[in-house]
Amino acid sequence: LREGLARTRQAAFGRIAQLLGATEITPALWEELEAALIQADVGVRVAQELLDRLRERVRREGVTRAEDLRAMLKAELRALLKDPPPLNLGRDPLEVVLVVGVNGSGKTTTVAKLAHRFRQQGRRVLLAAADTFRAAAGEQLEIWADRAGVPCIGGQPGADPGAVLFDALQAARARGYDLVLADTAGRLHTKYNLMQELQKVRRVAAKAVPGAPHEVWLVLDATTGQNALPQAREFHQAVGVTGLILTKLDGTAKGGAVFAIARELGLPVRFVGVGEGLEDLLPFDADAFVEELFE
Ligand code: GDP
Repeated sequence: LREGLARTRQAAFGRIAQLLGATEITPALWEELEAALIQADVGVRVAQELLDRLRERVRREGVTRAEDLRAMLKAELRALLKDPPPLNLGRDPLEVVLVVGVNGSGKTTTVAKLAHRFRQQGRRVLLAAADTFRAAAGEQLEIWADRAGVPCIGGQPGADPGAVLFDALQAARARGYDLVLADTAGRLHTKYNLMQELQKVRRVAAKAVPGAPHEVWLVLDATTGQNALPQAREFHQAVGVTGLILTKLDGTAKGGAVFAIARELGLPVRFVGVGEGLEDLLPFDADAFVEELFE
């Protein structure tokens, strides 16, 4: 996480830490702090809310030293990241996770990273290549499945994604797998079609396996910062997202967007992607995240 956050820390939160290294809290400090938070991509609204609360606390508690303000800011940022409920996994004999998100967000890579992680935890993982719209999606996922050492069930390009998932679930059951991770389409002819298709895939999972989908994870590209928000709302409305995965955190100075996204959607961040390899997916730890922004 330290390395993954290097750019966000240096470019954005470094400035904040520097500001809070001042001795006294001055009106100018407040203004610069606001600008720096917005630059870190925490979003205008979240930045203003944060500063309002901080001003109130500073007044109430009679704080004058910037150093104390620093501790308060960390606590307020931390409070924006809700503590997530435990994952809805590890109970049923066969469990299903749908992974959704737009093309290019890092969805396929993330499915592979997840397969690797859960396999290392001793789970028997099977991948379902339910993106039948993008011509090469199935092949790409198969290459990743090989690397991760897990089987992958797909269909012909253009096949019905619900049918592909259904086959994958049947195969998983017949062959004793206990976790199916489904890669889904990230683009169709229209957004409306895409959401309809994802809803259908969801219904297929629910019909075929009791309690499924156990989790629905939305993959978001952290480099898009605030722009990920409207997209995330649509997916959430259509398929009921249960958790977020932020990819490419290593390639961006906009890591502050994590706060805006978590706050606006009220959804837990479950994992962060910090590189292109199978190992480059970390469970999201809110305490560590906030600490490391200020290191
Ligand atoms: P998809 O279209 O959403 O399935 O995206 P892909 O999984 O094909 O990934 C798109 C690009 O993003 C690829 O070049 C990946 O290697 C890269 N990528 C995915 N996750 C990460 C990450 O966490 N960090 C970095 N630096 N690159 C990533």
